[in-house]
Amino acid sequence: MHYRLRGQNFRDQRLFGTSRGMVNYKYDKGAKLKKDFHIHTKYCNHAVGEMSEYVESAISSGLEEMGFLEHYEVGINYYRKNWLSYEELTIYYEEGLKLREQYGSKIKIHLGIELGIHLSQIEALQKGLQKHPWDHVGLSFHYLPFEPYHINVCSGSTHNLQPMTDYGIQQAVQVYFDTLQAGIQAIDADFLCHFDVLWRNYPDIEVTPEIEKRINQILELVSKKKMALEINTSGFLHRGEQYPATWILAKAHQLGIPFVVGSDSHAPDQIARYFDKVEPLIEFVMSQK
Ligand SMILES: [Zn+2]
Ligand SMILES: [Zn+2]
Repeated sequence: MHYRLRGQNFRDQRLFGTSRGMVNYKYDKGAKLKKDFHIHTKYCNHAVGEMSEYVESAISSGLEEMGFLEHYEVGINYYRKNWLSYEELTIYYEEGLKLREQYGSKIKIHLGIELGIHLSQIEALQKGLQKHPWDHVGLSFHYLPFEPYHINVCSGSTHNLQPMTDYGIQQAVQVYFDTLQAGIQAIDADFLCHFDVLWRNYPDIEVTPEIEKRINQILELVSKKKMALEINTSGFLHRGEQYPATWILAKAHQLGIPFVVGSDSHAPDQIARYFDKVEPLIEFVMSQK
């Protein structure tokens, strides 16, 4: 079992070529999926259940590895705090270490963060990254700035849908991709989460040649930064298909980008959800040339 050493930052590890391989995302052809790398906890304020209950659930689901991936956001003006504060990162991390000790013979537990891109807060976000030797970092874009507040683009609640209409969907698409691109460039992370989540509430956004080009550019950047792409199974519940869409996965595979599978669990019984759909999906995508 390899974990990042305390005090080492990702950039150093990249230099020595030892980063990312710390958590092995490799999917073996024909193998059953036994790793779920996107699991939240009660500490983000919108998930339920003790961390130990997630571990128990992962063990009874037959997983060999699980990755907690808690929300970290800075400078977001939203009606509720849906993420961990800088101080709470330590509470979460230390509880995770205890569980790792307690359950170590049954399951490998990884502790990571889902970092919300906010371009004016890169320095503060890096501080959270460096606070603990996280096993993995997922990059996401959740909050669209709409003065004086932020809109959660991943949420299906009316709190967000009306302001989004006022903001303008086409404009949101532009800002979403611009921000992702700049964020991936600025922050060293392990994988990109729920890449096309904007289509959750707006399935009719047309994938124009321009949008396709943007998606391809971002995938090329993901590949250049040696990141993986997440297959997020919460999409099956939200829109009948994983995030991101299959054609994006096929494109990523052509570029040699590895996949990470995550359930985005916000309750213990969501661990490994829809994994039975992902196994044939990965086989299919990998068979595409
Ligand atoms: Zn997310
Ligand atoms: Zn998440």
